[in-house]
Amino acid sequence: MIKFSLSAALALCFSTYAQAAPAPADTIYRNGYVYTVDAKDSVQQALAVRAGRIVYVGDDAGAQALAGKQTRVIDLQGRMLMPGLIDGHMHPQSGGSRLLNCSLDYENLTVPQFQARIQACLDKDKKSDSKRWLVVVNWFQQGMLPEGVETSAATLDALKTERPIIVRSSFGHSSQLNSRGIALAGIKADTPDPAGGKIVRDAQGKATGLLEDAAQDAAMNLLPALTVAENLAASKAALAAMRKQGITTFLDAYTDPETMTAFSTLQKQGKLTARGHFAVLIDLDKGATPKSAVAELLKQQKQFDQGPTRVAPSMQVRHAKLFMDGVISAPAFTGAMLEPYLVNQGTAQQPNWQPGPHNGPANYFSPEALTATLNELAAARIDPHVHVDGDRAVRATLDAIAALRATPAGALVRPALAHDEIVAPADYARFAQLDVTPVLSLQWGKPAPDTVGALKDYMGPQRYAIVEPQSLLLDAGARIAYGSDWPVDPLDIWFALKVGVTRTAAPDAGKEYAGTLGPQPGMPRAAVLRAATINAAYTLRQEALTGSLEVGKLADMIVLDRNFFRIEAEDIANIRVLQTMVGGKIVYQADGMH
Ligand SMILES: [Zn+2]
Repeated sequence: MIKFSLSAALALCFSTYAQAAPAPADTIYRNGYVYTVDAKDSVQQALAVRAGRIVYVGDDAGAQALAGKQTRVIDLQGRMLMPGLIDGHMHPQSGGSRLLNCSLDYENLTVPQFQARIQACLDKDKKSDSKRWLVVVNWFQQGMLPEGVETSAATLDALKTERPIIVRSSFGHSSQLNSRGIALAGIKADTPDPAGGKIVRDAQGKATGLLEDAAQDAAMNLLPALTVAENLAASKAALAAMRKQGITTFLDAYTDPETMTAFSTLQKQGKLTARGHFAVLIDLDKGATPKSAVAELLKQQKQFDQGPTRVAPSMQVRHAKLFMDGVISAPAFTGAMLEPYLVNQGTAQQPNWQPGPHNGPANYFSPEALTATLNELAAARIDPHVHVDGDRAVRATLDAIAALRATPAGALVRPALAHDEIVAPADYARFAQLDVTPVLSLQWGKPAPDTVGALKDYMGPQRYAIVEPQSLLLDAGARIAYGSDWPVDPLDIWFALKVGVTRTAAPDAGKEYAGTLGPQPGMPRAAVLRAATINAAYTLRQEALTGSLEVGKLADMIVLDRNFFRIEAEDIANIRVLQTMVGGKIVYQADGMH
């Protein structure tokens, strides 16, 4: 394959014009703390941009030499300039659409607060007819106050409305319905639990309206799909949220044609303000073979992939999403574990946690199916992005990649393993050995209702000590990349990067969540920034073009209101992005930046 070489082109360009004065820059940033994320993480003073690319990184005098009459010169006043953030795993469409829904904002709420928030949504939307579902999202179910308080249909029946209501937990594993919703979903006293799901019932056996995992489908299947206009609104909302956070490139870790249609509409309108990468699901459940599933992916690639990366943001479809298991958290326990989940064989007062009968489901791909799929993907030059949460899912995937590496096409693949909440210590070094990138949601590495509250008990002390193995993998030589997994959590990358450094919750999280998650240290600050820039770029094959501030690269960068390296670690969560530039174009500017 003949590849256009950027460095060769630049060399040619410079030699041709070696004697002439260089063309003036479009934009110069001077007097700053320019954190480059180059091979040495060097810090410079100034940077110049021409035609959407970085043409100079160095000191003020050197940048000044590129100033012309039309050059915009930005005095950073010592502020930090760094590469734009690269989110290696997110769900922009559901994130964006949730921004448009009635949202409980992941807050810790009492039952009266929960009711008041939902009533306010109903009151705001008086025009909707009584048949229309009210969908409430971002419910932090485990964080309800006081601890252990439960909701039921009666909690929602107390509201002034005729409408069916569904309140969806932020984790996606449970939903609460009102009585109208239960009736519409056809759930009766004798309705059996579906496979992989649970209809929660009261002491009399009556459904409480709380549905877990697959049981949610009874209601979810009744919700109308997003319309074209709603899809477009969701993409717009997602891009607005990204610009504000400083995200200049993202991976949609589980896309669909409707989402890609919405983003391509915005791209054609010149409104795509981040470089979009899209992973198509490979699912062998419904009779698909590895060959037919990859063929379907390639069909979508043909329709939506816009070719090589260029200055203006565009779309690429070069990743496959595979699920190897579910999640290790309660009450799902669908993470595939090497050892069983513990169960309490004592009482609530005198607990006695012992290995239980289950270690999670069988891996969602058998070894044969995974190997066949990975080979098929490698032949098609598609990189696999694999969901692995428990240590058994991680191991099985590493085993399959070890076999893949022995093939010529497989040697060139860039596999990413998303989540990795628990990894067996024997497997830490295999990430580096096999050149597999863990894509981690750094914000999970903190004490929280779903970690301290429960994980400790059903994982037991040995596994709890190594949960969220960020620095353990880093020390074993792994290239750690960051992925927000938005909207599982709010899109708050600066908080996530703070947790990556401190492994602590927010200072106002409550004293039961004080201290760090387990004995592991946090990651060094420089490693945290590399995870959210150059390393995430690597998983998208963009590291020659983005992810660091170096001559020849695309001018994707952000200006921060405070210096990531010179503030208290806790203060990292408060960083605000003052300006976001993508391909040399300013796409976001906050007050206080001029
Ligand atoms: Zn995800």
